[in-house]
Amino acid sequence: MEADKTQKLLKERLKEKGGLKVTHQRLLVLSVLEENSGSHMTAEDIYDLVSEDYPEIGLATVYRTLQLLWDMQLVDRINFGGDGCVRYEIGHLLNGGETKHNHHHLICKRCNKVMPFDDDLLESLEDHIEKATGFHVLDHELKFYGLCKDCMKKQR
Ligand SMILES: [Zn+2]
Ligand SMILES: [Zn+2]
Ligand SMILES: [Zn+2]
Repeated sequence: MEADKTQKLLKERLKEKGGLKVTHQRLLVLSVLEENSGSHMTAEDIYDLVSEDYPEIGLATVYRTLQLLWDMQLVDRINFGGDGCVRYEIGHLLNGGETKHNHHHLICKRCNKVMPFDDDLLESLEDHIEKATGFHVLDHELKFYGLCKDCMKKQR
């Protein structure tokens, strides 16, 4: 999505949130996530990138901004357990999708790398669930834990 669309959506959401303003730091945090879509960043990673452009920003502000953006569904938050830390990525609303999530996640148990995986072969499972239980699936979230290619190589 182009930068002006992102800004427009941010503006709309902030307005709905009770007339909050589009600030430089809110926009910067969101743009950093947008520019790095597909990489799953911790608040510290985001802080490092944002502070290159805006050295006055503090880590606490980045945390608060991420919480706000998450409340407004502009960013997705994934708790990966492995290293006990929470990672962020641009929300799927801004990444083309409407109701469905972005991608699935492959998580390396050794180096904690997180990789996106795009193929979605779950429609037939969702149909099956609906037929079997009457439950209509709106979304799903999948995490695969294992060893990445690099870690597999090192193991040999
Ligand atoms: Zn690995
Ligand atoms: Zn992801
Ligand atoms: Zn899926």
